[in-house]
Amino acid sequence: MRTMTRRSVTGQYPDVKPELPPRSRGVIALLEENCTVCMLCARECPDWCIYIDSHKETIPAPPGGRERQRNVLDRFDIDFSLCMYCGICIEACPFDALFWSPEFEYAELDIRDLTHGKERLGEWMATVPPPPAHDDSGVRPKELESAAAALAKTAAGAGPERPSRHGREAEAAAPAPAEPVEPAPAEPVTPEVAAPEAPPTGRRSLGGVVWAPEEDER
Ligand code: SF4
Ligand code: SF4
Repeated sequence: MRTMTRRSVTGQYPDVKPELPPRSRGVIALLEENCTVCMLCARECPDWCIYIDSHKETIPAPPGGRERQRNVLDRFDIDFSLCMYCGICIEACPFDALFWSPEFEYAELDIRDLTHGKERLGEWMATVPPPPAHDDSGVRPKELESAAAALAKTAAGAGPERPSRHGREAEAAAPAPAEPVEPAPAEPVTPEVAAPEAPPTGRRSLGGVVWAPEEDER
């Protein structure tokens, strides 16, 4: 009843643009730098309306390393005349290369022109709204929890800094510090006992009487 009595409002589009919810599913935008040509989106698309071509590029080897290869995206087309806006490709992308954009003004006069390439999909990235703010009462991401735990562990175990490998090498190369030399204990000075003077050879004193053995032997 309330709806029946409400006055209808006619949107004056295109003179007045409609105010769409920020998470509207208008069109799919592509962040080309994030795409690794894994083909998951094309495989998962139920309408088979994503067309991808690529070639391999060799990255020169860094000093001491070896050459690597990477995929370079040549073509990324979405046929929006077939797309049913299910969002499976966006959910399937493991590298955050696909996003919903609220952009909706891409109508064409010819249905064949509704196939848009990576350049056009990249332009729509400018209209992708930023991700919603984190809900404080929600479950925190596992990555944040593990990072906070690692930080707390580092802060708790911050003891004396361990010497680096170079520090240990320098320590080993340095000459060993001289050991303190203990002073030797001084020898006890014994008072010199004066030896009794030997009687002169040839003559002996006996009770004040000088006795000459030579004479006695004679
Ligand atoms: S939204 Fe659905 S139908 Fe459209 S390209 Fe993605 S997976 Fe395919
Ligand atoms: S799933 Fe993502 S990374 Fe893989 S080809 Fe599609 S857009 Fe590129």
